[in-house]
Amino acid sequence: MDSFTDVPRIKESSDIGQQQCRVVTEEEWLQKWQMRNIGFHKEQVHWILRKYLDVLLNGRSGLRIFFPLCGKAVEMKWLADMGHCVVGVELSECALKEFFTEHNLSYSEEPVPGISGAKVFKSTSGNISLYCCSIYDLSSTIAGRFDGIWDRGSLVAINPCDRERYANLMLSLMEGSCCYLLVSVLYDPNKHKGPPFYVPDSEIKSLFGLLISGENITSLKGKVCEIKCLEKVDDFSDQHKAWGLDYFLEVTYLLTLKSVP
Ligand code: SAH
Repeated sequence: MDSFTDVPRIKESSDIGQQQCRVVTEEEWLQKWQMRNIGFHKEQVHWILRKYLDVLLNGRSGLRIFFPLCGKAVEMKWLADMGHCVVGVELSECALKEFFTEHNLSYSEEPVPGISGAKVFKSTSGNISLYCCSIYDLSSTIAGRFDGIWDRGSLVAINPCDRERYANLMLSLMEGSCCYLLVSVLYDPNKHKGPPFYVPDSEIKSLFGLLISGENITSLKGKVCEIKCLEKVDDFSDQHKAWGLDYFLEVTYLLTLKSVP
């Protein structure tokens, strides 16, 4: 089911309710990995990335592609095998080591100049570099800029109070021609505490695309995005039912930079 007309008719609220105040600490994320509470990890390449690969690549080859909050996403290997250079960032060292081990990839481990305590794990082939630190420690000075971004389980995983900081960082990591595929989720935020957190369409627009009479140009580092909704599908499963929900939608956006006058 992949057309806008097939999705349940819901009234989308811009109010994210009690989720606004919810904070998941770094320690809690590390515990999820330790306790194997990682239902977010998928063994197969996400169908949305398969479907929109051409949109992400936009006719280009040998891209630098960024995976914010990467976990051990299998799509990193998939894109690296196509000749792209993949860069990820993840808090959990265990997740990153599992990624390399599960794909039989040898890797090296190095400190990151500029981020104390951080490490970067690099595949021996050199085309996968995964930073083990908080995404908020990263900058374009450290990681460079990217031609493509795959954001699945990332914007929806960060604490709602950090969304503006996250969006500004992502904007600063985009090359001028960057294609940013963003997968967000919609459900009734009064029925589940998250993560994943509910991110209304209106918030995507204000985080990445809104420019109110030039006022927030500085905070957006002179960048705003054109936002295209590519897909809105019903993704309701038994897991969502167990959370107490009665609908769950997955929404895919394409963000591209437009120049600010
Ligand atoms: N994108 C991945 C994982 C999604 S789950 C996938 O598609 O499978 C979110 C991941 O973000 C978890 O692995 C968690 O450990 C990590 N994480 C949470 N907060 C983070 C932060 N501030 N910086 C880096 N990683 C973070």
